[in-house]
Amino acid sequence: MNAEILSVGTELLLGGTVNTDARDISLALAELGVNVYWHTVVGDNPARLTECIYRARNRADLIITTGGLGPTCDDLTKQTLARAFDRKLYLNEDALADIREYFAERGRSFTDNNLRQAYLPEGSIMLPNDCGTAPGCILEDGPVRVVMLPGPPRECVTMLRNHVMPYLQKLSGAVIRSHMIRFFGIGESAMETRLRSFMDGANPTVAPYSREGECWVRVTAKGANEAECEALMAPVIEDICDKMGDLVYGIDCASLEERVLQLLQEKNTSLAVAESCTGGLLAQRITDIPGASAHFLGGVVTYTEDAKVRLLDMDEDLIAENGVVSMPVAAKMAKRVRKALGSDIGVGITGWAGPDGDDVGLVFVALASRGGCFVRRLQCGHAPRPRIRLIAASNALDMIRRYLTGLDV
Ligand code: ATP
Ligand code: MG
Repeated sequence: MNAEILSVGTELLLGGTVNTDARDISLALAELGVNVYWHTVVGDNPARLTECIYRARNRADLIITTGGLGPTCDDLTKQTLARAFDRKLYLNEDALADIREYFAERGRSFTDNNLRQAYLPEGSIMLPNDCGTAPGCILEDGPVRVVMLPGPPRECVTMLRNHVMPYLQKLSGAVIRSHMIRFFGIGESAMETRLRSFMDGANPTVAPYSREGECWVRVTAKGANEAECEALMAPVIEDICDKMGDLVYGIDCASLEERVLQLLQEKNTSLAVAESCTGGLLAQRITDIPGASAHFLGGVVTYTEDAKVRLLDMDEDLIAENGVVSMPVAAKMAKRVRKALGSDIGVGITGWAGPDGDDVGLVFVALASRGGCFVRRLQCGHAPRPRIRLIAASNALDMIRRYLTGLDV
């Protein structure tokens, strides 16, 4: 099946809104083994939209549109598509009941233009909107299928996951399963070079991702049933893990912090952190995970030198001799917070987040434990402040992970 994603909305052309819907749909279709060959963006203009529809149906057998399903007069997707496929619009009673219920539940009044949303092309399949009002629909026309989704990202993705993916999966008759293998400590191009040979496979497929300073690969298999898919994937996953060694931090886990918390639980270990340039990001990422309080004792943000002296009882001379961004200061922060809170592990982070200064991007991350203290020196270059913070916090998490799994920190 070859797909085209047709995003409708003048705001996308003007640059005010990033087309995240197209990205999310592409990612979801890849999981199903559907090839996406085109992304098209067009404004809220019926003539140009019609032109795009004609072109799309001549080259794709699955067209997924986003946007323009709402109640306002610039929401024209359904009307324009119905005309292009020579279908009339009719009032769908189920859709109308859903919309009325949505308004009643929220105590909001139903206006006449909301009625427009309940009109669907004749012969189409209604797609319920589980977090908004505008329903979507699927129009089948010979070999071509058009799926219309709402523009707001939450509504778009929810409808896709809840109603469109099951529809597409049933259509293909096959079962599709995938696993995500996550790495830390390797860049995207190095990962691709190492795993190049896996990426030419047809079943399972191996697709690389890189986001937020990490790299991942998704392994996806198509088979007659779940067991067949798992059997196809198992040897490939094993080979990839062998090849990547201790850079693999998890399979199907949601994040580095989730993996770290899992390890803290398994090893019954407690953690305390002292942060400077990360401004609390490390503590935030850990406390985002439910159940963190059983192992994360607490942390301090000692941003200034004075705060480090007062809250961590640091020696002013140590700072004066080495500089506040230095290996000894990071180590001392880790040791002092560990001692202050009585935790098994203490982490200290100090660095220059920039944008000014000669040493922008220089960060020291320290991990103190009963067995001693390890310090990592990072050079993030002239990256933006949020990126430096993110990389520093991720490295701290990676050090904890490595320490708890008995690897070299
Ligand atoms: P509504 O019922 O809110 O009018 P709609 O289906 O008519 O929804 P649009 O009016 O086209 O959708 O867009 C509504 C909002 O959704 C936009 O202001 C924009 O913020 C967001 N949006 C629309 N299309 C996309 C897209 N492709 N990617 C990300 N966000 C989008
Ligand atoms: Mg709209």
